[in-house]
Amino acid sequence: MSVSQLAKSIAESPTLRLNEQARLLREKGEAVVHLGAGEPKNKAPIAAILAAASKLNTGDVKYTPADGTPGLKKQIIRYTEENYDRVVAPENVIVSAGAKQSVFNILYSVLNPQDEVVILAPYWVSYPEMVKMCYGVPVIVKAEDGGFVPRAEDIEKAVGSATRVIICNSPNNPSGVLYPESLVSWLVDFCERKGIWLIMDDIYHKLVFDGKKSPSCFKYTKRDTETSKVIAVNGVSKLYGMTGFRIGWAIAPRPLVQIMTNVQGQITTTVSVLLQAAAEGAMSGLQSAVESLRLQLENNRNVMLQELASFNGVKTIKPDGTYYCLPDFRAYSNKSVELSDFLLKKALVVAVPGREFGMEGYLRLSYAGTIKEIQEGIARIKWALDPSAPNEIYVGDKKLVRDWL
Ligand code: PMP
Repeated sequence: MSVSQLAKSIAESPTLRLNEQARLLREKGEAVVHLGAGEPKNKAPIAAILAAASKLNTGDVKYTPADGTPGLKKQIIRYTEENYDRVVAPENVIVSAGAKQSVFNILYSVLNPQDEVVILAPYWVSYPEMVKMCYGVPVIVKAEDGGFVPRAEDIEKAVGSATRVIICNSPNNPSGVLYPESLVSWLVDFCERKGIWLIMDDIYHKLVFDGKKSPSCFKYTKRDTETSKVIAVNGVSKLYGMTGFRIGWAIAPRPLVQIMTNVQGQITTTVSVLLQAAAEGAMSGLQSAVESLRLQLENNRNVMLQELASFNGVKTIKPDGTYYCLPDFRAYSNKSVELSDFLLKKALVVAVPGREFGMEGYLRLSYAGTIKEIQEGIARIKWALDPSAPNEIYVGDKKLVRDWL
């Protein structure tokens, strides 16, 4: 079959692959526990549902401007002022099909072939693949101390004359760690001095625990929005658990937004007007759902840490936010893809291999589900790996006996 070499080299999304495997197992009646989920179980906010339904009821479902409806952009401008203390113009905002499309659009709009993009590890799986899709070269920077926060000196060393972009995601998927303010402010200053774009993927910025706060990236720039190199990406997926609505956005200088709008206009034209109406509804409605979600996640995180603490040899850095933690399973295996396959096959638990996030030997575990799923999932992993755990366990109504340790 004749296909593009580049397209062929793009990896399948590991989370989507695991979702599919779990779905097939569930279809066969297997009691799978999904600790891979990047979405909570809540229903969409009622304001979102009513807004989309009311737009649908008009029957007037047409194209919108390629960069988003004026109503949704107004809410995004208000959100940016409230949460970033930054007043931006409608021309600084572009709405996309999820934050994912926003990141892709930015990369497509700023990269020339062979330009480099510095990605801080651990990183979200899609960044390196997106960079490659734009004919760029991903350059990964790891924390020297084996932790989850790369040092400024290591980032500086990775930057060269071909670097066009640095991508920063804090709080971070997969580690849950919030980067210190000192690092974010250094990144802003460094990128602006060097003329490098800084993409701040803030998709989890309100889901932070222990009274901490994710700092606004715009706080550290002395430049106005038109001359700043900071681009903020955000969306409704994680904030309201509205992952299926596919609404995200970017805040950037006008000329860049104009180019991104042209690019998007040629690919998708626009995002569905119904989904934009839903996002506008969620953003203008009662915000209590966000705080409830945050509290639920914080509680789930605590349960997850408690369960993991009783696990011999597994080390976990406490997540400050997000839906995830990234425990170190190297005491059991250095091959996280094999370990993940083994856990799904033997214990019917979905755990995403750390290798996909640049952290081999780790597993990304999500606490976005229920407490019961967390407890059951960790008990099963323990049963499968830890010789000191009892060698029998009930999975659904089946008794499983461990015969491999
Ligand atoms: N950035 C990060 C760090 C994410 O984890 C995700 C979703 N997993 C996204 C962006 C994409 O979000 P959206 O659903 O808005 O495309």
